[in-house]
Amino acid sequence: MFKRRNAIEIKSPDQLAVMRAAGLVVARALQAMSDAAVPGATTADLDVLARDVLADHGATSSFLGYKAHGAVPYPGVICASVNDEVVHGIPGPRVLREGDLLSIDFGAIVDGWNGDAAVTVLIGDVAPERRALSAVTEASLWAGLAQARVGAHLTDISHAIESAIVAGGREAGVEYGIVAEYGGHGIGSRMHMEPHILNYGAPGRGPVLRAGMALAIEPMVTLGDPEVMLLADAWTVSTADGGCAAHWEHTVAVTDDGPWVLTALDDVRL
Ligand code: MG
Repeated sequence: MFKRRNAIEIKSPDQLAVMRAAGLVVARALQAMSDAAVPGATTADLDVLARDVLADHGATSSFLGYKAHGAVPYPGVICASVNDEVVHGIPGPRVLREGDLLSIDFGAIVDGWNGDAAVTVLIGDVAPERRALSAVTEASLWAGLAQARVGAHLTDISHAIESAIVAGGREAGVEYGIVAEYGGHGIGSRMHMEPHILNYGAPGRGPVLRAGMALAIEPMVTLGDPEVMLLADAWTVSTADGGCAAHWEHTVAVTDDGPWVLTALDDVRL
């Protein structure tokens, strides 16, 4: 028999249970880092915290040593992207300041199975338009997660995300940008797998979702133009116009009982 190329990995219930364990490590680390992300802390401090959480749970990092084309192996266990940085900011001596918008992305592996999630954290007192940007991005994530249902098409997720961002912008009187170069992904025995998940587009297209699939859904939204550029460190992606960006992500399993958010702190089934 031919094995279909680019087939989406199907997990057994037992494998999803291990992915939930990995997701819980991710959730706990993100909670600890969010609490520690205050003015005066460095992004390297948060990376150290995350390494401690991994060690406490006997888990390993999905990010450390990750190789992307043309870049040095990734040196951190978290991505810490501040203000105009969208994703893949390398943790280091940068000191967080009052008013910053910090996105923290973190992945963990338990017994060979991956969990991946991101949160945007408000550092101290943050300007209302930045708070709204983060809130709309998070709402669009949950709109996408709710579409991760048996029988839905992949781009039903994309469309729900875009619709929520447009609606949030209309309410706020702003036109948010949706970053097009990056998106969500299948996840399981590897962090990045088929399919790629756009954060915009028409519904009803792409593969039909089946029980046992797991997806990392991750909208990236900007206050200004969505065009991005890669910085000289070959990892950090920032907005081209210097505007602020927000990033939220969860890993979700498609199950016969509905979407199961594997990287939430509580057991969340939509
Ligand atoms: Mg991801």
